Amino acid sequence: MTDALMNTYARADLAFDHGEGAYLFGTDGRRYLDFASGIAVTALGHAHPHLVAALTEQAGKLWHCSNLFRIPAGETLAARLAEASFADRVFFCNSGLEAFEGAVKLTRRYFDVIGQPDRHRIITCQGAFHGRSLMGIASAGNPKYMEGFGPHAPGFSTVAFNNLNELRDAVTDDTAAIMVEPVQGEGGIRPAALQFLRDLRTVCDEFGLLLIYDEIQCGMGRTGRLFAHQWAENAAPDVMLLAKGLGGGFPIGAILATEEAAKGLAPGTHGTTFGGNPLAMACGNAVMDVVTGPGFLEEVDRVARILWRRLEALVGRHPQVFAEVRGAGLMLGLRCQADAPGLIARLREAGLLTVGAAENTIRLLPPLIIGERQVEEALDILESVASAQAAAA
Ligand SMILES: *Cc1c(COP(=O)(O)O)cnc(C)c1O
Repeated sequence: MTDALMNTYARADLAFDHGEGAYLFGTDGRRYLDFASGIAVTALGHAHPHLVAALTEQAGKLWHCSNLFRIPAGETLAARLAEASFADRVFFCNSGLEAFEGAVKLTRRYFDVIGQPDRHRIITCQGAFHGRSLMGIASAGNPKYMEGFGPHAPGFSTVAFNNLNELRDAVTDDTAAIMVEPVQGEGGIRPAALQFLRDLRTVCDEFGLLLIYDEIQCGMGRTGRLFAHQWAENAAPDVMLLAKGLGGGFPIGAILATEEAAKGLAPGTHGTTFGGNPLAMACGNAVMDVVTGPGFLEEVDRVARILWRRLEALVGRHPQVFAEVRGAGLMLGLRCQADAPGLIARLREAGLLTVGAAENTIRLLPPLIIGERQVEEALDILESVASAQAAAA
């Protein structure tokens, strides 16, 4: 019975009993290779022993105490994230959306305290996705998510992705920040050109704007670097949003910022009841232990390159089914010639879980712990589904 749930999802008729590593075990008794990872969330796969141990140990001690008190594990996780990035300060919340909303508040407050309160507009990119609140959908400007939800939140201008000239032209006296996903996820796995990221930094410096990266999907090792923008030299942001992979399946969001960008957020200006609670922080620290452990990201990069080459060959063999491979690391998209949703359903029936995205793209978001065996297994399934599709066409 699903009738009591609001009808907001077109769910597949499939439920899972448990997971182990890169596999999910359905209540139908079947095993599925999970290249969806709950939409880039279970970055270390399912039931990772280090995460299970961290969560269960913390569960027996203290779940929640509120941000009225110090939370030492949160201080530790913030320091580790700062150490590994451009940031000086971290704010923990519970989801990507909250990180986005908090970053918009941080931006407005920053310009308020530096005496430029008229600067509030944030430039975003077409194809962006920053979450589903009223401000989130307005920021991305995607009619599919906005229709029927007016009046729309003001304060955003959307320009073409990877187009510096258009972006520069959009900067006006009321512009405060530029917000970009270094690799667009929902928008169809579209990577920003590394030069575009460097140019964004230059434009932000020139006009005194904050540069905000939404790394909610592409961060936490997904591209083979801890943060996707780290592939580009001299392109560090002032603010960065994290969520999804940060908790390995436990809901955590985070806003990372430089000391300067964060200076408007004095005590009392922003807050959350659940954010950064001891259970969440135990999980976040456990994820950091693994992802920043020796050789981990190098192995992600190595396996990702193998997967990329195998997918390129697949596309080459089935040009009538697939148009191209794109993305970075283990955040890859297979742009289809047609009917990505149909292909996703057939892949699922054949035992491989993937995620849809815009531009007729199938998202492949395997856990970062996969090895060559899972690459081969996924390719076997992709090959058989593509062959059947080509034969039927
Ligand atoms: C998923 C996602 C969000 C929203 O995160 P939620 O936790 O679903 O609110 C924002 N930005 C990007 C890039 C995302 O992938």
